[in-house]
Order: sequence, then C-alpha cells, then structure tokens
Amino acid sequence: MKKPFVTLEQLQEIVKDYPTPFHLYDERGIRENARALYKAFSWNPGFREYFAVKATPNPQILKILHEEGCGVDCSSLTELMMSGRCGFKGDEIMFSSNDTPAEEFVLADQLGATINLDDITHIDFLQQTIGHIPKKISCRYNPGGTFTLGESKEGFQVMDNPGDAKYGLTRPQMTEAFRRLRELGAEEFGIHAFLASNTLSNDYYPALAAILFQTAVELKNETGAHITFINLSGGVGVPYRPDQPANDIAVIGEGVRRAYEEILVPAGMGDVAICTELGRFMLAPYGHLVTKVLHQKHIHKEYIGVDACAANLMRPAIYGAYHHITVMGKEDAPCGHKYDVTGSLCENSDKFAVDRMLPEIHTGDLLVIHDTGAHGHAMGYQYNGRLRSAEVLLCQDGSTRLIRRAETPEDYFATAIWD
Ligand SMILES: *Cc1c(COP(=O)(O)O)cnc(C)c1O
Repeated sequence: MKKPFVTLEQLQEIVKDYPTPFHLYDERGIRENARALYKAFSWNPGFREYFAVKATPNPQILKILHEEGCGVDCSSLTELMMSGRCGFKGDEIMFSSNDTPAEEFVLADQLGATINLDDITHIDFLQQTIGHIPKKISCRYNPGGTFTLGESKEGFQVMDNPGDAKYGLTRPQMTEAFRRLRELGAEEFGIHAFLASNTLSNDYYPALAAILFQTAVELKNETGAHITFINLSGGVGVPYRPDQPANDIAVIGEGVRRAYEEILVPAGMGDVAICTELGRFMLAPYGHLVTKVLHQKHIHKEYIGVDACAANLMRPAIYGAYHHITVMGKEDAPCGHKYDVTGSLCENSDKFAVDRMLPEIHTGDLLVIHDTGAHGHAMGYQYNGRLRSAEVLLCQDGSTRLIRRAETPEDYFATAIWD
C-alpha cells in the first residue's frame, strides 16, 4: 500500500497557509534517499550523482541535493543559469544536451561544466563555438537496436528502443569521435548512455554498466583515450502503482560493482568514476500534488472534479500515466466507488484517474496525488489560463516553507503585448 508522507491533520494545517493545489516535497525523504544512493556506490571513490534538473527545477531542491553531495545534469541554457545561481560549478555540472544551440555550449564552458556531446558533428561545432576542446569531455553512446532485459512469461522486464531514439553516437562514431577529440587536445574521456526509462528492475543499471564498461575497454584499446568516468545517466524508476516492487538501490550498486570488477579492473581501468544522472528516482516519491475536491458530477460516469488540473501534472493526460491517489483521512476505508478524477481544462484527457476504485469522496475532501516530485510541476503549462501552482517544502523539523509561489494572472499577462 502507498502511504502519503503527511497525515490528514498535518495537511489540514498546511492548507491553512497555502491554498490548494500545490506540490508538497518531503525534505527528509529526499535526503535519506540521496544518502542511500551514495552508500550503494560508496565502493567507487569518484562516484557522483548529477541530479537531472529538468525533473524538478527548483533552487531549494537543488540546494538540498547539493548539500547531499550531488551535482546537476543540465540540458538547456536556463537549467545551466539556475544551477550556476545555486552555486554549482566546475565538475559539479554535467551538460547532457542534444540539438544544442551555440550559446549553451558557451555558458557550459564558462561554468566549467563537463560537456557530454550528443553527436559527432558537435565536436567541430563546439570547437568553433568556444574556440577550443575542453580537456575533459564525454560522448553519448547509442548502440541502436532494442534494449531488453530479463525475459519471462509476461514478456521482457525492461524493453526500450534505442534504435528509434534521436540521441547519441553510433559505435563506429564513438571511435572516430574519441580519436578526433584526442587530436584536438582532450585528455580525459567519459562515456554516457541512456537506454531505457523508468525501469523497475535492479538489473537495468548493471546491464547498462556492463555494455558501457565493455565499450570503454574497446575504446581505450582502439584510440588510446584515457577514460576517467562512465555516466549511467537516468532511467532507474519508481513504482507508481501500489502493487509494483520498488528498486533496491543497494542491490543496484552491488550489481554495478560486480560488472566493474569483472570488466574494468582486469583491463587496468580500476580508477574510472561512476556518474549517474537520476531524476525520477531522486525526487518522484518525495512529492505529492495536494488538491481539493470542488465538485461531484453524476452523468454517464461518476466524476470527481478537483482544483488541480493537467497544467499542474501532465503525465496522466499525455502518457496515460498512473498516479496513485489517497483520499486523506480515508486511508483505510474500503475502495467501493468507481470514479474519474478530473481537472477543469477543456480537454477530455484532463483526468488524473479513470475508472479508479476509491473510498467514497465528498466535496471538500483533500486528495494526495502520489509520486509527483519529478516530471510533475516541471512539466506544468498554462493552457486555458490555468496557472502553475506553488511548491511547498515539508522540512525535516515538520515545518513548511514556500519554495515557489503560485503564478498569478499578472505573471500570465506579463509576456503579452497589450497596446
Ligand atoms: C531526463 C534525463 C535524465 C533523468 O531521467 P530520469 O528518468 O528522470 O531518471 C538523465 N539524463 C538525461 C540526459 C536526461 O535527458
């Protein structure tokens, strides 16, 4: 069963200070999870998590992760600017972008970020843009084909389609790129790949690591490049559904260690640092979208209308993603009612849940929509003039802090030309 990280009583106090809807984040959960990740990879002295800023681009969240030893993974100008303003610098910043505008390479270079090239043509583009090739550089690898893991009766445990993804260099291009980068003065090399998203398997990272470690050994032999870091990127998932088992980060870290000792250590590459760029795993479970029931409607189906909408959480509307819902105060009540839980956009896809069995709901009830801490507020938009909500931090001492105010109509109007 999925339990909210707040009780009804706590939430009733919190909504006195912050009107619904808002995203609420659990500082304690974020810190404990980050520490568990670092513990799982403590066998690797150079290990660092570069939090994928796009998942939750909030300065206070970034600062908490910074305190826990994390860097940031940026992929746009504003993410780089935000990270710079939050005090990240030098090799605390990974810049993993694609289709990159020149100005972004310029800022990444000024901040001293580690640049992860998405394409072989970006070598010359980077050289022309910033006037040199950084001493430390990384290339994103795309092996093509399909990536599958762990066949069972139900199908593959993990399946994704790198051959269809726009990212990265092919295997022959990796060799060519490392040779060219060496000629242009690069001295320290990294390899990055992102082959599957939201994986619920302790085997994904170890399998990806084995592919990248093997590739690293080959590239070292072919090009003489000194490979100093391997970036496993994002993709470790979270159980959005209550019946799904969670990943065990300690088991994942141990699996990567085994691959490291089998492949890299015998090749004399036992000094390679492991990097991760997790977003969802770092934040999703530690965010709730808190919303209040405004209306109940009985037509061909039973509808519960809430004060949040897809502008606050887009995943259900665009991917049909499941987000668990708790009716606060009715955690143990039987789920005897079938509802669609909807927002107010003039879009029929604006539903947080379809045919969901829930306890009987009354107008005024508070609902918690789970696992919204990553790719939640971040994907917000302003369609229908519905504005982005506030973000509130539930601090470790139980107090709350506003970490982003809600947008106002004036924010919405500010970019319009009125006369
Ligand atoms: C989105 C992204 C991540 C984070 O992915 P999660 O699924 O949230 O872990 C990491 N690296 C890159 C380059 C990304 O685009």
